Amino acid sequence: MRPELTQQIDRVRARLARLPHASLAFLPTPLQPCPRLTKELGGPHLYIKRDDLTGLAFGGNKVRQHEYILGEALRQGADCFVQGAAAQSNHSRQLAAAGAQLGVDTYLLPKDDGFMNPAVGNLLIDRILGAQISPIRATDSTIAAKSALVARLTTDGRHPFVTGMGAQAALMLAAVAYVDALFEIVEQMPDERIPDAIYTASQGSTQGGMMLACEMLGLPTRVIGIAPMRADSEARMSKPEIVEMIHSAGELLGHESAITVDDIELRDEFVGPDYGVPSEESIEAIGTVGRLEGVLLDPVYSGKAFAGLTADVGAARFTTSDHVVFLHTGGLPALFVHAEQVVAGLDRHRRTNPSEE
Ligand SMILES: *Cc1c(COP(=O)(O)O)cnc(C)c1O
Repeated sequence: MRPELTQQIDRVRARLARLPHASLAFLPTPLQPCPRLTKELGGPHLYIKRDDLTGLAFGGNKVRQHEYILGEALRQGADCFVQGAAAQSNHSRQLAAAGAQLGVDTYLLPKDDGFMNPAVGNLLIDRILGAQISPIRATDSTIAAKSALVARLTTDGRHPFVTGMGAQAALMLAAVAYVDALFEIVEQMPDERIPDAIYTASQGSTQGGMMLACEMLGLPTRVIGIAPMRADSEARMSKPEIVEMIHSAGELLGHESAITVDDIELRDEFVGPDYGVPSEESIEAIGTVGRLEGVLLDPVYSGKAFAGLTADVGAARFTTSDHVVFLHTGGLPALFVHAEQVVAGLDRHRRTNPSEE
């Protein structure tokens, strides 16, 4: 690697090492070359960064993020964690697993959004991991419900730490975690190539952290986020919020960021019917990546993100000499929540494209 890149990575890692940290993830995760997928899509060289393999109860990007978020929580003397989200939240499941490993109670407020089956997917795993689960109504605000729970726990003499949507400090530390993920990618690329683009499912933090890392290293890499939910969702950061988060994360690491809202490529057109509802394209992506590389995607986040990458390759946004990385953020328990729809979609796709089987 170019010596100035190595030096800058070392410098930033020395700052990261000074932050409170809980050891939770299996790192570095592999960077998997995907020659068969590359050939099938007929575009750039494709790689998958396997952050679905961070460990801890089915893995995913929150395990990496929780190392910094929960490290800070423990430094503050937290004795329980509070998180609310969709009923089938990956974040909640990874928090419950971290809580179990660290010996800290986890309180979850899943929203009754139509996927509340306690015997399936993430909710089943939350139960196994011993989380305290209190469902809220579909019409309730998750952020408000979290505040109410924190007030109650505090009255009881507990020291709760809140993470997830609305918790700005935690979202910023989540971005900090993804600075190092980008460094891993740079170190793992064959022949010291610099990726032309990185795709990820995005609500803000993961994408923002990798954008910050690219800026710190002076790389031309574009980090493209594919949103799993519409822009008006409470669970998604706005572009100005993402910029503010990037600047704070940069400050924490001694870097003054010049990133503006115009730099944020966060795309809305692959949400499909709604958040948490599989799109036809996401199921097609699950079939393609499974069949060609033996890698599983999910229909809520990674499948939709990969559908975004596929559409861009199809629209010839890259040449065959470009190198594109897909960051796999995990989310695999959702496969079992939407199993019927996934099977039906795969069958429909096979009928219209019999040559692929
Ligand atoms: C939470 C989650 C994301 C979004 O991560 P952010 O850091 O909030 O952008 C993407 N993919 C999966 C599978 C997730 O669980």
